[in-house]
Amino acid sequence: MKTYGHIIIGCGASGLSLAYHLSNAGFPGGSILLIDKENKIVNDNSWGYWSRSAQPFDSIAKRSFKKIGTNHPGHQIIYDLKRYKFHVLQRTDFEVFVKNHLAQFKEVDWLTTNIESVKEEKDHVVVQTSKGTFQSDYVFSSIYSEQDIVERSRLFIRQQIKGWIIQTATNSFNPDSMTLFDFNTPQCNQMRYMSVIPENENRATIKFNVFAEKLLEKEEYENSLRNYIQHHLKIKEYTIEAEEWGVIPMTDHYFATRHGNRIIKIGIAGGCTKASSGYSFKRIQRHTQLLAQLLKDGWPPYADANSGPRFRFYDQVLLNIFIKNAGAGAKIFSDLFSRNEPEKVFKFLDEDTLLTEDLKIISSLSSFPFLRSVVTLAGSEVNPLIMVKNAKNKDNNEKSTDNYD
Ligand SMILES: Cc1cc2nc3c(=O)[nH]c(=O)nc-3n(C[C@H](O)[C@H](O)[C@H](O)COP(=O)(O)OP(=O)(O)OC[C@H]3O[C@@H](n4cnc5c(N)ncnc54)[C@H](O)[C@@H]3O)c2cc1C
Repeated sequence: MKTYGHIIIGCGASGLSLAYHLSNAGFPGGSILLIDKENKIVNDNSWGYWSRSAQPFDSIAKRSFKKIGTNHPGHQIIYDLKRYKFHVLQRTDFEVFVKNHLAQFKEVDWLTTNIESVKEEKDHVVVQTSKGTFQSDYVFSSIYSEQDIVERSRLFIRQQIKGWIIQTATNSFNPDSMTLFDFNTPQCNQMRYMSVIPENENRATIKFNVFAEKLLEKEEYENSLRNYIQHHLKIKEYTIEAEEWGVIPMTDHYFATRHGNRIIKIGIAGGCTKASSGYSFKRIQRHTQLLAQLLKDGWPPYADANSGPRFRFYDQVLLNIFIKNAGAGAKIFSDLFSRNEPEKVFKFLDEDTLLTEDLKIISSLSSFPFLRSVVTLAGSEVNPLIMVKNAKNKDNNEKSTDNYD
């Protein structure tokens, strides 16, 4: 049986990031095997993130903006991000960059196959695949079952993202500024918004975001995009050059980072998604960098990527609003940005604020839906401390196997 230092299952954002950070750390623990069930990019998503300090993949970002806009029926605001930048990274660029980088190291092997089982033994993990059986000290896996999360969540919605990259016949976009969210699209008792990410004056990605439990029909995403482009952006002639599509689970579920002692979850599966916004990419970098550093320093790679109790509580309040009172959700997004400096908002969303700063931001939001959400949550089991405790108990019971069905 071939033995590796680490096996990484899932070569998406988190799996490739971890391999990249392990290579920069000098491959602590030895060689790595990367396994994915597919070897082609089926969906060229783009990932956006803001930062005021350099992040690992800034240099390959397709666009980096110093200005962002937010639009609501009747008013539009453009913000100068000051010390921050909003970067947009194309999934293909990221994959090509990381794969080229890893190609120079003899410590890296790749395998495209289906996983049959992952089982923790006394001092190693055995991964059985349709192309052979392998073992390693640790397995890092970004695989999760959505059904499992739905069953374990008290609050759950899907952030559905359908995007079109369009080319226009005439100059139609201001390439200096992107629209983070535009609520000028029918809401249909859900929270729905568009984002516009220009590449230049004639080309942009238009993304339709829907926060809802059930998926919409394909035509509904397309009709919404078409109407927005024609009636709101006033673009008559354009061609759709590429599409993107995907779903981010937004949930109060506590993602156990450790399954047993040697199977470590990363990415969405490891709790890297901010429950109230869906943003994950920067948190994935922070988490995978930390795992690589722990291994380099001779520690087991144990690091929790879930938000701490204070921010889990805010996320639950917001999720509850998005689920039960979607109209208020749009108002809260609007208040958040229009009544606070974007720098403060980003710091808050990055969970870097002090409690006093949180209170200032929260008091700037429409208080009624917020308070109502807090009251409805207070009596229920939705309490971050109880949930973390329950999840940890569950985690210990989950010991050594993993489900790849
Ligand atoms: C459309 C969309 C837009 C997003 N935009 C943003 C954004 O702007 N900013 C942001 O911060 N976050 C964004 N996210 C959220 C998050 O950053 C991404 O979903 C990110 O790709 C998550 O990384 P991951 O490694 O957890 O999962 P993925 O990148 O999805 O990687 C999982 C990998 O596992 C493989 N796999 C699945 N099942 C198996 C199996 N059984 N065996 C082997 N391999 C398997 C898949 O082929 C895939 O390569 C977005 C998500 C989506 C869907």
